[in-house]
Amino acid sequence: MTTAILSALPEEQSSLLQLLQKKERLTHAGRTFCRGFLYDQAVVLALSGIGKVAAATTATTLIERFGAQRIVFTGVAGGIGEGVQVGDVVIASDYLQHDMDASPLFPRWELPGYGSARLACDAALSASLLIATRAYLASAVAHFDAKNRAPQAHQGLIASGDRFVATAQESGALRQALANAGHPVLAVEMEGAAVAQVCQDYGLPFAAMRTISDRADDSAHVDFSHFVQQVASRYAGGVVGAWLAAGGVGGTTYADSAPASLV
Ligand code: SAH
Repeated sequence: MTTAILSALPEEQSSLLQLLQKKERLTHAGRTFCRGFLYDQAVVLALSGIGKVAAATTATTLIERFGAQRIVFTGVAGGIGEGVQVGDVVIASDYLQHDMDASPLFPRWELPGYGSARLACDAALSASLLIATRAYLASAVAHFDAKNRAPQAHQGLIASGDRFVATAQESGALRQALANAGHPVLAVEMEGAAVAQVCQDYGLPFAAMRTISDRADDSAHVDFSHFVQQVASRYAGGVVGAWLAAGGVGGTTYADSAPASLV
């Protein structure tokens, strides 16, 4: 089984790239893909660049051209939920596109054709990533200057959109509007919901871990740049690496688990 590990930015991926064995580098559709083995598991590491369209085309390429059977996203995000602080990790339970608005034809945020605003992540895959996250954070307090506070793992809804959310006013308004509609959001970023939609279309398991780089407020751009350079990559290597080293459990597709006679 090939596991795709997708990130938007090189800094979100670099520690995993350093661990990659039997590395084979390929360029396709303007993206870089690195195939190889991490802790004896077949993987392909990919960089999407920023935004939903870039993430969707990269996810599609991973599936169609590289035979990915499940996708794990590792990257950073702005924390907007209460208590979701810089240095924490959010494992997505599901995703929503906060810039989707086909109202009044469809309810606000609903994805036309999908009958819902939310796209679920794979429960088993997310659960094993959460275990790896907790283990890593328990061992990694020293890795991040968290000002007397141990980094925490959260699991919940993440919202994606083609905007870098960088004012307290915007993040507050977004949090409130979504909460009023029954969508309590923990974090905001720019790619995950697109990958979730592609994986739903193909019937493949998807999970995402996002390290909180900023609070999507007026100092988000400063916090983001500092965090991405100093800390983000270690988290990717720590959490996704620990998850793969422990067997990369979760998100087994039907074809993998079915008896050979049925495949
Ligand atoms: N300065 C960067 C651009 C980063 S865009 C550059 O020049 O390359 C922000 C990236 O981090 C996106 O991939 C997004 O998914 C994530 N992200 C982190 N904080 C965010 C926030 N507050 N709002 C939206 N996306 C955020």
